[in-house]
Amino acid sequence: MTKCPICGFFKTKIYWKHKDMIIDKCDGCQTLFQDPKSPVLNDNELITQIYEQYKESFENHISINISRIEKIEKITGIKVKNLKILEIGCGNGALGSILIDKKNDYWAFEAYPVFQKELARNKKLSDKVFFSQFDPQKIKGGNFDLIIANDVIEHLLAPLTLLKQLRDFMKEKGLIWIEVPDESYIEIKGLIRIITKMYVKGYPTNPDHKILFDKKTFLNFLKISGYKIKNYEIDSVWGDKEKLSVVFNGKIPFYVKTISEILKITSLDKIIGASIIGVLEK
Ligand SMILES: [Zn+2]
Repeated sequence: MTKCPICGFFKTKIYWKHKDMIIDKCDGCQTLFQDPKSPVLNDNELITQIYEQYKESFENHISINISRIEKIEKITGIKVKNLKILEIGCGNGALGSILIDKKNDYWAFEAYPVFQKELARNKKLSDKVFFSQFDPQKIKGGNFDLIIANDVIEHLLAPLTLLKQLRDFMKEKGLIWIEVPDESYIEIKGLIRIITKMYVKGYPTNPDHKILFDKKTFLNFLKISGYKIKNYEIDSVWGDKEKLSVVFNGKIPFYVKTISEILKITSLDKIIGASIIGVLEK
């Protein structure tokens, strides 16, 4: 029995055990999470290997993030220009690089060495990024219009603590933009990932994901965050050409394009593969 990272409840049980990965489920809030004793969490070599794969697709990440900014503007109604922006977990810096071009005062944190090395060589970003986990001491007095956490919250052991800390760094009308992968239907997705040897050796989910949100448990997380929910949206992956392009290393096979079109027309794309977006305000 372990402590749920979302509600703090101690009644949890093992939900799925595969190789050296242990996924638990909370009896209280139903959230799935990797057991802190899941051995694969400490396999740094494997985790670095997984992220090394992303480095080859910087150009694709630029196109994904151009559409991401359009999405932020559409959903929140704010213009992403001349803003003071903080990104938690900026990865290879693709989003930051566009935000700087758009005349935003951009700052970021990145804790993973594999991305830090790449960022250190990027002249535009190297002095805008703190090479560590989020640390309130480093941005004293920062007063941000927009805080972005894309694919970050699911990597944290205590995501609510981070959200609590961020409150002091937001302007009165500031917003927090959060995106997490939607792990609904994990039973099916997990089997496919095992069979196709995803994440190098084949695991039900990314070995580095500590929390596996679905639509319901993510909404619950937003509700107990202490903020007001401004927006909650499901965003398609299968209906998104740029995102598919990353998955298939720039060359999307014809049959995948066809499947993607069908899924988009029938709206099934938002059920089987999606990210979930939450926008929070004070
Ligand atoms: Zn819970």
